[in-house]
This record gives sequence, C-alpha cells and structure tokens, in this order.
Amino acid sequence: MEKEKRGSAPFRVLHPLERDFSRYWGDAAFVVRTAEWGEMDRLVTLYTQSAGKIRVVARGARKSGNRFGSSLEPATIGKYFFYSGRGWPILSQSEIQVSFRHLINKPLRFLALHYLLLLLNDSIEEESPDPAFFSVLCRFLELIAGPGMVEAILSRFRCDLFKHLGVGPRITECSRCGLPAGNSTYWDTPSGGIICETCSKREGWNLLSRDTAAIVRMMVSSSQQEALRVRLSTRQSCDIDRILTDYYSCHVREGFPSWQAFSRRYAEISQ
Ligand SMILES: [Zn+2]
Repeated sequence: MEKEKRGSAPFRVLHPLERDFSRYWGDAAFVVRTAEWGEMDRLVTLYTQSAGKIRVVARGARKSGNRFGSSLEPATIGKYFFYSGRGWPILSQSEIQVSFRHLINKPLRFLALHYLLLLLNDSIEEESPDPAFFSVLCRFLELIAGPGMVEAILSRFRCDLFKHLGVGPRITECSRCGLPAGNSTYWDTPSGGIICETCSKREGWNLLSRDTAAIVRMMVSSSQQEALRVRLSTRQSCDIDRILTDYYSCHVREGFPSWQAFSRRYAEISQ
C-alpha cells in the first residue's frame, strides 16, 4: 500500500478510475450548485472534466473569510483539488478561471445561468464522465454571459442535452415509422420528433407552424454558430420553449418548469 508515494506532484489531474486510489486529486470543473452542510460546511455539486457530476464537501465554506472565496459561486469554472476521505471527497483548494459574478447585474442572464445549472443537475447522473460534454457545457456558460439571445442559447442547450442523454429529437426521419420526414411540420413528442404526414393522420398529431418547425430543425441539427444566430420572436420563443419543456417531461423527467415559467416566477419574486 504505497499509493501516497506515487508521483511527486500531488495535484495532477487523474483519470476517474485512478482517482479512488489516490489521496489527492484535481480536476477542471464548474460549480453546479451548493447546499448547506453541517454547521459550517457546504456540499458542492461540481461538473468535472474527467469524472462528470460529483459532490464534494467544502469544510468551513460558510465561515466568513473562508479560503474558498467566491470559487463556490454557481457556474464558476476553475481548477478544484480534493482528497478522498470517508464519504464525500473533501475540497481542499480551488482556483477560479472564469467567474460569472458580474451577471448579478444582468437579471435575465443570471436567471438563464441558473436555469441551465438546474436543468443539468436535474438530468445528469453522478459520475458519468464525458470530457467532450464538459467543454460543451463551459461554452454554454460563457455564451449566456455574452451578447447572444438567451432564448436561443437555452433552446440549443436543451437540444444538445437531449443528444447527450441519448434522447435527441429525430428530425430527418419520421420518429414513428422511420421513413424520410421531408419537410413535414408534424411533431410528436412521445415518439421523439418530427413525424411524416401519413403517420400524423393515423393518430394524435401536432402541427407546428412552418417557422417553428424550421427553428426546431435548426436547433437540433445546425452548427451551434448558425443556431445561435437566429433571432426568435416572442411567439417563436414561447413555442420552442413549450415544445422542449414537453419533450424534457416526456423523455427525461417530469415536472421541470419551462424557461418562461421559471423566469416569470423569479421576476415576480424580485419585484
Ligand atoms: Zn411516419
């Protein structure tokens, strides 16, 4: 049992499988949420590059002037270092790389950031590593802080999240019969996407407006750059939000609020 002696740099990034056998380890990560824990601690949910979503204890994080500073604020991207103890790993040190503190002065973007984090926390299982998705998520956090349209960013984010979860909407083939869907504007949430006209006539169908169908297609299949260039009208934003919220309820988990409902609720509270 000579594991502590291995390697001279105690904070090198480790492969998740290797991690359990090392006392110290570190990883790039961002903060998904924090909760009060014990008398003075916080239980921090991080999305890490090499281990996916994990929970760690930040001892003393609720004491004023604690060593973690603002590195535990939601969405903060940084380097986080831990040691394995009994139960949750213990956070020992953190270095901020990107902070989103300034968004407190931009309520819509601040809310969008929280919506994204809540959605992520709701849908992602712990310890399901995906380094490529970690990069995608960091990019979305930075996009929300940028000048782009929040509704478009959140729509694209949800489509990427569905794909990551293995339930990406089908838009080129009919999601019921598998035949080419062409330019069909029929949408069927339970079967998972666009359906052809023949299938739409058979049972329950939902006709999207032509522009909404085009936006759904773009959000699912265009490059991120192209999808985020789109300017959504208020009606289009509401339509897409409703479609994606229903889709989430049906294919991921029930009960998560739409962006419209979420932002409205918090706007009311803050008044
Ligand atoms: Zn069909």
